[in-house]
Amino acid sequence: MTIATVNPTSGKTEVVLEPHSPGEVDARIGEAHRAAAVLRQTTFAQRAEWMHRAAAFLDEHAEGLGELITVEMGKPIGQSVAEVAKCAKAMRFYADHAEEFLADAPLADPTTVGASGAWTRYEPLGVILAVMPWNYPLWQVVRFAAPALMAGNAGVLKHASNVPQCAMALDALFENAGFPAGSFRTLLIGGSEVAPVIADPRIAAVTLTGSEPAGRSVAALAGQHIKKAILELGGSDPFIVLASADVAEAARTAVRARINNNGQSCIAGKRFIVHTDVYDEFAREFTRLMVGLTVGDPLDAATEVGPLATESGRAELAELVEDARAKGASILTGGSAPDVDGWFYLPTVIADLPDDARLIQEEAFGPVASLYRACDDEDALRLANQTGFGLSSAVWTTDAEEEARFIAEIDAGAVFVNGMTVSYQELPFGGIKRSGYGRELAAVGQREFCNLKTVWKA
Ligand code: NAP
Repeated sequence: MTIATVNPTSGKTEVVLEPHSPGEVDARIGEAHRAAAVLRQTTFAQRAEWMHRAAAFLDEHAEGLGELITVEMGKPIGQSVAEVAKCAKAMRFYADHAEEFLADAPLADPTTVGASGAWTRYEPLGVILAVMPWNYPLWQVVRFAAPALMAGNAGVLKHASNVPQCAMALDALFENAGFPAGSFRTLLIGGSEVAPVIADPRIAAVTLTGSEPAGRSVAALAGQHIKKAILELGGSDPFIVLASADVAEAARTAVRARINNNGQSCIAGKRFIVHTDVYDEFAREFTRLMVGLTVGDPLDAATEVGPLATESGRAELAELVEDARAKGASILTGGSAPDVDGWFYLPTVIADLPDDARLIQEEAFGPVASLYRACDDEDALRLANQTGFGLSSAVWTTDAEEEARFIAEIDAGAVFVNGMTVSYQELPFGGIKRSGYGRELAAVGQREFCNLKTVWKA
């Protein structure tokens, strides 16, 4: 696979990078391995100082890095710059909280285990491999790297092949901020070259954010080598609007939930499940707002929807829409690619999906929303849970009983009430079912790549 920046707005190849040879990969893993040995001897205060410096660098270069994100994967420039700021914020969060999250925890009464003292401590695991996607080219990496480095681990990154300049910017970031050389190393390799990296005895564990097939492959390899794996995979999140909801507000938020990041977010609302009493009102308002979106050059600050990141991604999305159309679904707006350069796809709303439409079970990674009419709350829950994914969800209601029921009964890693799903550094993030396992962010995410060591003392 070519490792290159292909600008999705023009379709033109802008930069091609030479992949790392097996020898270079070996040397880079070696550097990370040596750095991990140094890092585990450093204090939280020292690592925090370096992490704060890395955050300051991001803030100073937010515009330039934002532009790079947009050129490599096409998201609107305001969202790219905001992504850089979000990374800086998360770095500061872990710099300030890692020591507290990873503090020793004593057993209150050690005599119950016949000891004079008993406690647990978190220790770094070593070098963690991160296999990452292009959709948030900085954020996906930083939400792994900031807690991992603050815990005293080193990281090697296999980034998506279409965002190599972002990958190399991350390679330089931590070292320039003061972390020991090699603490974070990018490997410019394709997905097919990940297997020997996972097998390498210097790699302690692996985290993957990406598609189901990549997750299956990486988890199988990790299992073979008895290495811990975290999987953050796809989602087809329900966005549920119940009869008691503020429908106008729900429709406005639903549009943002669907088209944020040009529709290419794992936690985007993708299936809009609406109680029959408010279905017509919601469908009308939601479609009206989707029609009114500004589609265009993502470097233009007025653009709300840019191109899809890859030509193949657009083709897969179009296939899902054509499948639904052929099986008799109603296309309320969009349903085609505009006749311009680049990999644009019009914001699309689809209703009346037959049971065998692929959109019901598969993830629409782009600005395509599907609408479902629920005859009652029971039906809304059935529709919400009928997918094999279980990443996140949103429910809109003003009724306390409904709220409690949906929080308890939606099968997902998160439920957002009267809002859209967003990842926050303070809250755990991750899925169930085919959306993966393990958690990122918050204290629990940082502890995933630590050895929780039990100490017992006579
Ligand atoms: P992808 O094809 O799985 O790529 C993700 C990463 O995995 C890339 O670095 C890719 O490298 C690598 N890869 C692909 N196949 C591999 C294999 N067999 N072995 C090892 N590595 C492999 O995913 P995508 O289509 O680019 O990204 C979109 C998907 O990611 C969507 O399903 C989305 O929902 C999911 N996602 C999930 C989350 C979450 O937090 N749950 C967040 C963002 C995105 P190459 O680029 O070299 O192929």
